[in-house]
Amino acid sequence: MKADLKGMSLAETEAWVEAQGLPAYRAKQLRQWLFKGLVTSFKDMTNISKGLRGQLEAKARITHVVLERTQVSKDRTTKFLFKLEDGHFIETVLIPERGHFTLCISSQAGCAMGCRFCLTARQGLKRNLSAAEILDQVIHVKRSMSEPDRLTNIVFMGMGEPLANYNHVLRALDNLISEEGMNFSHRTVTLSTCGLVPQIRRLGKEARVNLAVSLNASDDDTRSYLMPVNRKYPLKRLIEALTEFPTLNRRMITFEYVLVRGVNDRDEDALQLAALLKGVRAKINLIALNPHPDLDLAPSSLERVLRFQEILIERHFTAMIRKSKGQDISAACGQLSGKCNALAF
Ligand code: SAH
Repeated sequence: MKADLKGMSLAETEAWVEAQGLPAYRAKQLRQWLFKGLVTSFKDMTNISKGLRGQLEAKARITHVVLERTQVSKDRTTKFLFKLEDGHFIETVLIPERGHFTLCISSQAGCAMGCRFCLTARQGLKRNLSAAEILDQVIHVKRSMSEPDRLTNIVFMGMGEPLANYNHVLRALDNLISEEGMNFSHRTVTLSTCGLVPQIRRLGKEARVNLAVSLNASDDDTRSYLMPVNRKYPLKRLIEALTEFPTLNRRMITFEYVLVRGVNDRDEDALQLAALLKGVRAKINLIALNPHPDLDLAPSSLERVLRFQEILIERHFTAMIRKSKGQDISAACGQLSGKCNALAF
């Protein structure tokens, strides 16, 4: 099998380069082309001789995702549908913010977690993405931008559960953040999880990244109803692991809470949430459910959302209401289905 250079660390690239009988500096040169030059093939590595390029091509590969379709929302949110080499589809969403862009990337094709409110769950897990496939979403989108440096923030909130694909995600994180990789600041990269406790603990030891947790309920019954993963890792264990999670520079853990009408949006739920997160360095993002005809759940009213926020603020929490972006092109949270045939243009 050919070496997949984009998914390798600097040390691995150096070892590989050495095994080919090449001088060590070639490793950095190759990574420069991949992560700064954003090339898709060895041919584009113009300061490498033709002979060596041929040699590299015979032994190594540069995995890249293939753009199938782009859709732009009224609010300028852009959704990219990519086809993987084995025919699976994934989606990546570029979100314009004030003065910069955030890219929401996928870590798996499909997802096995089965959250009741999420469309990706409907298709089940197809497979894990490789580190190269995760990184190439960023590389591809950067290449398409007129001002690529304005892409400053990355969130692992697309399709899939990143901590269920731990090793590949960690590799991708490493190449995203390392200086001689893509050089993103670890302050602007956020991994979002449904709450896989052992992996959260491991992540705390092995990576520097912001953590977001999809909480969505403040008692086990409601959470297990919305998120089956809660049966395996109930709230007590989850909160315990989060309390011990080493946050960077005392930064907060973000808690995402999708408000579902009549399920988790009562005053009592807000009060219980405040009690649950007491003592956790928590920032709470509230979002009314993005509805979809395939879902048997409805969003809370704006009035409910505001009241829920008020209760949390009264209890001294930072609680923000997130507006959905890209709803008109099914690019909002929980709407990514990677379905090529559902798109009409
Ligand atoms: N598996 C990871 C990342 C993907 S989900 C995780 O669970 O965090 C990204 C976010 O979208 C989660 O916070 C989830 O709660 C939210 N989400 C999923 N479906 C949604 C929907 N229909 N409306 C609003 N938010 C939704």
